[in-house]
Amino acid sequence: MLEKVVIANRGEIALRILRACRELGIKTVAVHSTADANLKHVLLADESVCIGPPSSKDSYLNMPAIISAAEVTDSMAIHPGYGFLSENADFAERVEKSGFIFVGPKAETIRTMGDKVSAITTMKKAGVPCVPGSDGPLGNDPAENIRIARQIGYPVIIKASGGGGGRGMRVVHSEATLLNSINVTQVEAMAAFGNGQVYMEKFLEKPRHIEIQVMADNYGNVIHLGERDCSLQRRHQKVIEEAPAPGITPKQRKQIGERCIAACSAVGYRGAGTLEFLYQDNEFYFIEMNTRVQVEHPVTELITGIDIVKTQLRVAAGERLPWTQSDIAIRGHAIECRINAEDPKGFVPSPGLVKLYHPPGGPGIRIDSHLYSGYTVPPYYDSLIGKLIAYGEDRDTAIARMKTALSEMVVEGIKTNIPLHQEIFNHTAFKAGGLDIHYLERRLGIK
Ligand code: ADP
Repeated sequence: MLEKVVIANRGEIALRILRACRELGIKTVAVHSTADANLKHVLLADESVCIGPPSSKDSYLNMPAIISAAEVTDSMAIHPGYGFLSENADFAERVEKSGFIFVGPKAETIRTMGDKVSAITTMKKAGVPCVPGSDGPLGNDPAENIRIARQIGYPVIIKASGGGGGRGMRVVHSEATLLNSINVTQVEAMAAFGNGQVYMEKFLEKPRHIEIQVMADNYGNVIHLGERDCSLQRRHQKVIEEAPAPGITPKQRKQIGERCIAACSAVGYRGAGTLEFLYQDNEFYFIEMNTRVQVEHPVTELITGIDIVKTQLRVAAGERLPWTQSDIAIRGHAIECRINAEDPKGFVPSPGLVKLYHPPGGPGIRIDSHLYSGYTVPPYYDSLIGKLIAYGEDRDTAIARMKTALSEMVVEGIKTNIPLHQEIFNHTAFKAGGLDIHYLERRLGIK
């Protein structure tokens, strides 16, 4: 097993990784910015190292500082969590070149999947269904681009190869605006991502977001842990996630899961990963792969009984996956609410002193949060302050438990989006399940 691991992240995921390490008897090193000395996992870790000032680019994105922290503490591995450097192929490479284990896939896999065109090409080759599109980057021949769009059929979406975080995309409804939109997206992509390459896809009007969790070891063993439905989004940010996805049959799960396994085997995938799909009219369309643990991993843990973070650490230590696909069974239903420090109406961040924190409990309730009474949420980072997860033998039970938990949860001193979650859980449409990715914004009157 790994003896000591550097947790190169902050907030709830850093605490989640610390807990997994504790269970496995691994010593932990918390690296943190000057604004984060009072984070719960920093207080609990065996050792901690301050790696820079509050600004992420000088601390959580500061590769040399994180690698030196691993050196001075004589650590064996670095777990990047999600966000920050977790999908940075250069970081993964530098970590391994410095003699440490990167808890994640090989740098070259991260690089391939980080570029959307190369990710789609790889997936197509392995038989994963993708959105009808340009089959590679768009060239500069206007006639050819018009031809491609006609063939796909309007509306189409122009997307940046190097895009991320919901940026670098433009929907085109008719030929009149096509060429200009391609130009503008290329220029914007160059400015934002240093890569002007763009491609074209059919724009799906009412898709759901359904993603498949995979897990692989260093010896070619790959399994999938079923799907999650993350269609409730605001500005491409997930708000509520659940597993399994309402309406997906065991046969569909098996079919898409097998395709994902084939793709991961083809690229020699290692560790935890997620293949994201748009799902419309009973068809899956691959859009991108995340080569790291996801915020919403707990819902999968609850319905499969598998600890994804512990498995990441075990695989990084060179262990084999202890399961084959036939060992994986899905039982019950789990739903997660992302709790943010923000105004539930205007969505303006609301950092500050947490005067009182009282988490809910009871059967089937899990909270992943670094909050405690007296903690001050700093203004510099993402507003996620925790995740409330409810499990039940079926979806109705999970919903009932979530409603009780939301009504019990107390966070005083800062504003949170708990009232927004309470409102959503009372929507009749939400109770029915299977909503598309535009539902929430439509319902909130944003679109
Ligand atoms: P990012 O890496 O920026 O998150 P994605 O490729 O995952 O980019 O796309 C983000 C979101 O944009 C999707 O969840 C979906 O809402 C929308 N989107 C992307 N491609 C399409 C498409 N072909 N049709 C409809 N919506 C799309």
